[in-house]
Amino acid sequence: MKAADDIYRSLPEGTRNALSCLFSAYHFTESQKLEILKEEADLRQWKEESFTSIYKAPENRNDGRNGDRYIMAMRAYMNHLRSSETDYSDFTPNIHPRPKSRVMDTDKELVLSRCPCPVDGEKTRCCKLRTLDVIEQCAFSCSYCSVQAFYSENEIHAVSDIKNKLLALDLDDSVWHIGTGQASDSILLGDDHGTLTGLIAFAEKHPDVIIELKSKSARNVFDRKYPENIFFSWSLNAETIIRKEEHLTASLDGRIENAMRARDNGNLVGFHIHPMVYFRGWEDEYEAVTRRISSEFKAEDLFAISIGTLTFTKSVLKRLRMQGEESRILEMELTPAAGKFSYPLDVKRRMFSHVYSSFPQDIQDGVFFYLCMEDPSLWLPVLGREYGCDKDFEEDMKRNYLMKRDMLKVRNGIL
Ligand code: SF4
Repeated sequence: MKAADDIYRSLPEGTRNALSCLFSAYHFTESQKLEILKEEADLRQWKEESFTSIYKAPENRNDGRNGDRYIMAMRAYMNHLRSSETDYSDFTPNIHPRPKSRVMDTDKELVLSRCPCPVDGEKTRCCKLRTLDVIEQCAFSCSYCSVQAFYSENEIHAVSDIKNKLLALDLDDSVWHIGTGQASDSILLGDDHGTLTGLIAFAEKHPDVIIELKSKSARNVFDRKYPENIFFSWSLNAETIIRKEEHLTASLDGRIENAMRARDNGNLVGFHIHPMVYFRGWEDEYEAVTRRISSEFKAEDLFAISIGTLTFTKSVLKRLRMQGEESRILEMELTPAAGKFSYPLDVKRRMFSHVYSSFPQDIQDGVFFYLCMEDPSLWLPVLGREYGCDKDFEEDMKRNYLMKRDMLKVRNGIL
């Protein structure tokens, strides 16, 4: 079996020797062997001990069922690891920046796409964000990243002649919220390739369209003014997750300080507390993130705060496992969720509710909170409100945005 051979060869020598002994001592079917190999590959990626080295076989049981007993014990052990809070206290990954050999201009055409939510329906509540891939691939190395999995080349591509291409784009009336952070970090390259200059011209041409630049970067791009309809957002995470899983990105302080620069420069700011990870200590560390936001920002500074967690497609899961880089991000229960895999609903409800309730009342009341690409059943228990369909969600978000933008214009002396 090729898959089994490939995994076997990828394991450390000590584990390979232990597995050879195991496979000759006990009887396993071919599919059981494959299951054992896959679990050993996961344990190696998580830097957890090999199960072969901790399994204690019961003595004097020669009934021919030792293989089945091993499988049952292994499943119980793996289920325990996956369903409990991930322990990062003994985990220090070898940093594995995926080298980006160069940043190149590409003459690719610009296309306005829709966000990757499933088509309108009951599976998720979607705000209908439209996306523009002005840069493709990212210099950061988050271990859970689907962008890294999607673009295999180790090159970052910046769309050339960006200003003219943006100005030539035809927008229909349904378009009001466009994000550029779906295929890369929106500000990491600054204006090195004219991207920010192009986006400023585009925002000025469409004053009722909000352009969201999403980042995990501390790069200071605030030595120039941006139109009020450019909105800067930062993805934030618990310190432990930033240090252990979001390699090369800015620290929590670095991101918050950059958001303060955006605010002081006259723009609305937002945060995505995303992807939340269920790890030992998550309550305190995510609460610290909410304190950091509410101590530096007033409700009037903030357009929106979204909350969300890890979701993986089958192909991204496969890719992350094949890369085999040290990470505990997949040490989690992977339950089916709208065609992808994510934490069970109960875990999400507890994490999201904790974050929302940790914000002070004025932030809860004065900022548009939403759940990103999540099951509609989570809205009411977490945020105390829900929408019957995506359209209602989209319209409420737009109304809140226009109100905040007008308040900002008054503050900036434009209205
Ligand atoms: S910042 Fe975003 S695009 Fe860049 S590596 Fe992290 S998740 Fe991927």
